[in-house]
Amino acid sequence: MFIDKVTISVRAGRGGDGAVSFHREKYVAAGGPDGGDGGRGGNIIVIADDNMSTLMDFRYKRKYVAENGINGQGRRCTGKDGADITIKVPRGTLIRDKETGGIIRDMSDSQPFILAKGGRGGWGNKHFATPTRQVPRFAKPGLNGEYREVILELKLLADVGLVGFPNVGKSTLLSVVSKAHPKIANYHFTTLYPNLGVVYVSEGVSFVMADIPGIIEGASEGAGLGHDFLRHIDRCRLLIHLVDVSGSEGRDPIEDFEAINNELKEYSPELAERPQIVAANKCDLLPGDSELLNDFRDYIKQLGYELFEISAATHQGTRELVKAAAEKLASLPPIKVYEADYVAPEPVIDTSEAVEIEQYDDVWFVEGPWLEKLVATVNFSDYESRMYFDRILREAGIFERMEAMGVKDGDTVSIYNLEFEYQS
Ligand code: GDP
Ligand code: MG
Repeated sequence: MFIDKVTISVRAGRGGDGAVSFHREKYVAAGGPDGGDGGRGGNIIVIADDNMSTLMDFRYKRKYVAENGINGQGRRCTGKDGADITIKVPRGTLIRDKETGGIIRDMSDSQPFILAKGGRGGWGNKHFATPTRQVPRFAKPGLNGEYREVILELKLLADVGLVGFPNVGKSTLLSVVSKAHPKIANYHFTTLYPNLGVVYVSEGVSFVMADIPGIIEGASEGAGLGHDFLRHIDRCRLLIHLVDVSGSEGRDPIEDFEAINNELKEYSPELAERPQIVAANKCDLLPGDSELLNDFRDYIKQLGYELFEISAATHQGTRELVKAAAEKLASLPPIKVYEADYVAPEPVIDTSEAVEIEQYDDVWFVEGPWLEKLVATVNFSDYESRMYFDRILREAGIFERMEAMGVKDGDTVSIYNLEFEYQS
């Protein structure tokens, strides 16, 4: 079974906690704080792999969880970072947000992509030592890693896509012009997954050709196999439209040609506009003068397409066809790369959710899920944003609670990765 669309969930590791520890040595009465920081949680990284051509590996494994960071320890020992997880996907896989379908990343290049970031490790107590605060008995917990649910969708990267009815000879053509070994058989729907082959035309000239499963009538309305597979030729720069002109299956080449073009149009008008070269296949089966071929030739010429009369089986005309394709490609724009269009939704900040305030000496830790989200969105180098942040805390009654607990001007307020001095 060919799998080219899956939903997976990824969870990056949590950061390790910071340690509370004090230096101890014989004959040294009270050493300084030496609790180390927690390690970073492992990231979830995605990378394109040319040895993969399907998303089959994701059929049974859909959850990816990276390692947590290790807690910090005494003697200033920083905890180890959690190990990253690298997920390999076939080149050309789109990563979409599950909720909105927005494109997060097109995995067409070789750059590794961090899909979920590991949480930061918490600070150990050595961080909190100041000349006036020599015995900090507190440290910070690590932060959660990111969690995401995404859809992986394969959109093959090929210059040329072969389209045509089942059994017209698409797989045969690919196998004779490239080193690919698609399955060839004399029954419909033999090709159950796309095949890619590199076609070497001449010194330094080559292109990638894709053989996708046969399109059948009604495919664009989801009637059969074809629909799902049309997305694999979305990116193709050029289509070779293969038609069986032998009449060996009682088909009419003109009707077939029109039916396929209609399918393309219904699936995507843009795809229907893609440049096409037409190849009349199985010419080896024709008598010297064939009415089917003559009519088809007239029809195609009239529409202004280039026509190649070939036999994939005997290789007749296939060289000319691939040369023409290469020439055409030279004048066409490069393969489409999808721009990311996913916009993370504004986080819902519900200030009625619980907030914990803890005091250690002159440091106040203020924590709660909505605060964590808020801190992540506010740009603290911008005055307006800082005022906004301040207002929300005030309206949520945080400062009032702290006043009641005895906070003094100049105390440190610590909210996740943010620290500031309290001013009433
Ligand atoms: P696809 O479904 O379009 O991929 O078609 P295949 O490549 O699997 O071919 C279907 C059948 O047609 C197979 O039996 C092939 O051997 C046969 N075939 C393909 N091309 C030619 C050709 O040029 N001449 C003849 N006589 N048979 C062909
Ligand atoms: Mg085939």
